[in-house]
Amino acid sequence: MSEVQALNPKDDDPILNGVGKLVALIFGPDRHTRSRTAAILMCALMYMICCWAAFYVAELGMIRPFAPRLLLVTTVPVYAVLYALIRSGKTRHFKDPALMIPQNIFALLSISFAYTALGPYDRGVVMVLIALVMVFGMYTHTPKQSALVGGGAMLLLGLSMGVLSHIDPAYYPPKFELIRFELMVGTLPPLTFTAYQISTWRNRLIKQRRELKLALEQVQQLATHDSLTGLCNRRHMQDKLENCVGRFDRYGERFTAVLIDLDHFKQVNDRHGHRVGDDCLSNFAKAAVTVLRDTDTIARWGGEEFLILMPNTSQDKTTVALERLRTALADTALSSAVPALRVTFSAGVAVHDSVTSLSQTLERADQALYQAKALGRDRVEMAPPVKR
Ligand code: GH3
Ligand code: MG
Ligand code: MG
Repeated sequence: MSEVQALNPKDDDPILNGVGKLVALIFGPDRHTRSRTAAILMCALMYMICCWAAFYVAELGMIRPFAPRLLLVTTVPVYAVLYALIRSGKTRHFKDPALMIPQNIFALLSISFAYTALGPYDRGVVMVLIALVMVFGMYTHTPKQSALVGGGAMLLLGLSMGVLSHIDPAYYPPKFELIRFELMVGTLPPLTFTAYQISTWRNRLIKQRRELKLALEQVQQLATHDSLTGLCNRRHMQDKLENCVGRFDRYGERFTAVLIDLDHFKQVNDRHGHRVGDDCLSNFAKAAVTVLRDTDTIARWGGEEFLILMPNTSQDKTTVALERLRTALADTALSSAVPALRVTFSAGVAVHDSVTSLSQTLERADQALYQAKALGRDRVEMAPPVKR
């Protein structure tokens, strides 16, 4: 067992491990699934309490005798299916991953049914449950869904009151139904409006948070990348290099710095204009990113200078990679305005060494680049190993 594992007491505790496994088994493997399954199990528990209360009320003769059984045999399979869907992660990519809409529809149907089944003097109590449904929905519904749930509840209950008091006035006394209807009309619209407002605020907050996250990503991109080529900028590359020095000092992971300078680039600008020069720089960057390994990083170090950081790369492999880049450049039109234009580069390569600092390594790469330029350009020069 590694030191890091041994330091964590939870990993050694079989009871805590067992509880953790049980929680994961019941509630799901990840945080989102767990909060959804917890919510659905809590609703299922509330239904069970309501069913139990309904059986008790049936014993007292306050509800139609078949009603509690019907509530139980519909609730159990519906909630078993909802739980299975959420726990299995099948709803994860749904618009409504917690299945709040089906739950609300089922709740409204159950409440309306309970309303019709309860005795003439007691049925008003179930209206409190509608408030509960609305409050639950406030934190998950869109404003439109909140309005639909409130409107749907009023329509269902209103219709039940009207139709049943007409068909069976003895069990649904019209006077009482009218009072309850008035009560419902007085309470449900403000509740629906509140739910609508809260969902609107929630939606606005979610939107603002998304926009802030995006803005932060853009600011980070601007602070760490060069706008013309899209490559890392010098500051960001400096951080990466220092990181590599840290890894080298700690784990002995070698890295190579390659300083590249485009040859006679001033002439490109002078002959074809600055825009063609810009095209060349950004297309050179694209070609380099395509040719280099994913683990290598290339940055725009200055005007037409680039720095490649190659972790764990020997001199031979560096030469092969730079040769690949040279071949790619010979076949690449760097500016669509001047398709025949080709650009070459000179490069200086330095492998970081334990006896030198980062700035000395970069200085050695620069010296090697100077040498490459002096020896005629379009070539790669290796910095000599550091003398000990
Ligand atoms: P050498 O082979 O010795 O490197 O010659 P060179 O002409 O490339 O070198 P010099 O340093 O004289 O010129 C570099 C040129 O790079 C000058 C500058 O106009 C151009 N340059 C630097 N940054 C940019 C840029 O962002 N866009 C464009 N179009 N040109 C740039
Ligand atoms: Mg230069
Ligand atoms: Mg140059």
